[in-house]
Amino acid sequence: MKDQWNILEEAWIDAAALDGAWRKLSPLDALRDAALLRLLAVSSPLDEFAVHRFLMTLLYWKADSVGGVAALRTKLLAGVVPIEVIAAVASERGHFELFDPMRPFLQDPSAADPKPQKPVGSLFAEVATGTNIAHFDHSRDGESPLCIPCIARGLLRLVPWSQSGGAGLSPSIHGAPPIVVMPRGATLAVTLGLSLVDLPAPIGEPVWTGAFRPSSFAGRIPVLKALTWNPRCVYLPHAERDDRCGLCGTRGPVISRIHYKKNKAVLRPKSNGAKAVPLDWRDSGFVYAEQSAEPIKSSSESKAAIAEDVSGLASTSTEVQEGSVFTIVIPCTNPANNKTYDHRRIEVRTVAELARLTVPHHGAEGRELANDPIGAAAIGWPTSTVGAAVRSAISRFVAAASGALKDADWILLGRALGRPMNEDAEAFAVFSAVYWQVRLGGRSQFRRAAAWPLLKLMALVPSDRRAGSADADLAPLLDALPTGQASRSRFEQSDSEPYPVAPPRGHALEFALATAVDAQVARGASIPWIELGAFLHNASR
Ligand SMILES: [Zn+2]
Repeated sequence: MKDQWNILEEAWIDAAALDGAWRKLSPLDALRDAALLRLLAVSSPLDEFAVHRFLMTLLYWKADSVGGVAALRTKLLAGVVPIEVIAAVASERGHFELFDPMRPFLQDPSAADPKPQKPVGSLFAEVATGTNIAHFDHSRDGESPLCIPCIARGLLRLVPWSQSGGAGLSPSIHGAPPIVVMPRGATLAVTLGLSLVDLPAPIGEPVWTGAFRPSSFAGRIPVLKALTWNPRCVYLPHAERDDRCGLCGTRGPVISRIHYKKNKAVLRPKSNGAKAVPLDWRDSGFVYAEQSAEPIKSSSESKAAIAEDVSGLASTSTEVQEGSVFTIVIPCTNPANNKTYDHRRIEVRTVAELARLTVPHHGAEGRELANDPIGAAAIGWPTSTVGAAVRSAISRFVAAASGALKDADWILLGRALGRPMNEDAEAFAVFSAVYWQVRLGGRSQFRRAAAWPLLKLMALVPSDRRAGSADADLAPLLDALPTGQASRSRFEQSDSEPYPVAPPRGHALEFALATAVDAQVARGASIPWIELGAFLHNASR
């Protein structure tokens, strides 16, 4: 198995070129081509910031080769990435080997135990491990293997995104994950220039390998110390086998367990047993309230639900560059344990826009959901009311389908569940025959996009349940659809506001309805096909 993997030279960063084409690049190529790239196209907002931050660290480090940070910033804003800087970074390639036996990148070989103890998912807040319980998929807790490029992203998260909590782990230099404000220009070069602020602190030296040790907790923290401040001691074993990565799904060499420990050297001295002394470090990526040593965080679930967690940033004086946008990365952190339970990314043209932000799928003012957290209307379900002409068309459609189609037809239709019309020619031929009958009976106003899922749902039930039933009730079906909220009782028992959710659409709605229909049939209930058709008709708008 390959035992050399250089994080500077391997292509693992996704980016979008100016013409919109997708490219996979190494960090060195991303710097080289920064004037030809529109942006980093990273799916996780946390990774987007961490990767961006890594490139920034390289630039701060080698800014001297063109006369310092201010001079490099000017060149980047003019769209030029000086070749002197790229050459200087490239000449340091020896610091960036992930599997170097003596000096592995961002790792500490002295952290190695006889066997790696922690799941590799410990590198990611959203991968379920240990006390990271609030996130997504728990099916393979503790054993989900990850590919090397994903692990590289995870290592880069250690510096900006380490959380506290759990077994006495220290957070990143800036405490619990703050809200990021990233100015973005027309090209990656300009974006990097906008973030490369000449900070009022000594530049210092980066710590690329071994256990990170602060030179001092007092006085201004040097820039490169802060940008490589690593609260963990991590060491990667070699890849074990080929498997599918638990995060990106790529097949290749994977690692499932790593050495992952706290770094005691970053524990801050405490003044008389009270709170840890704040460090003298101001990060250009975060926003600070007046006279506060810690950057602004999103720590109230109620405020996050209606975007009030970011509105306060609007009054801060972030430099506004013409033609640029701002990417706001918002990790939502529970103040009780300092763990993030969610993260969002929004884009605004000016920071002032944050004051007027609403949550679109909440309704116009963003507060409807808070007033009616569980109700169907609150998550955007349409009412099933339709006009007489549409109702009559749906009724003809259901009658034509249940009267004319044969077992083989229904089997083809059931097989097409979740697929669009153009992906299954056989099922589509069956559908067209029925839909055409409806149109012959008058100009149908029953939408094709609603008739297609309705017919496939009809295919799922026993043949004697396919006729329209006048007395069947739609409400139990809709109640069985996912609301996206944790549970009804959770919101009845606490005063927290529910989190914004979007109702499922498209194939997700089809699968949700299929599950609900199955449950109704198992209970012996009839399905109100015409009402369901009306619901789909409105939902397909
Ligand atoms: Zn992966």
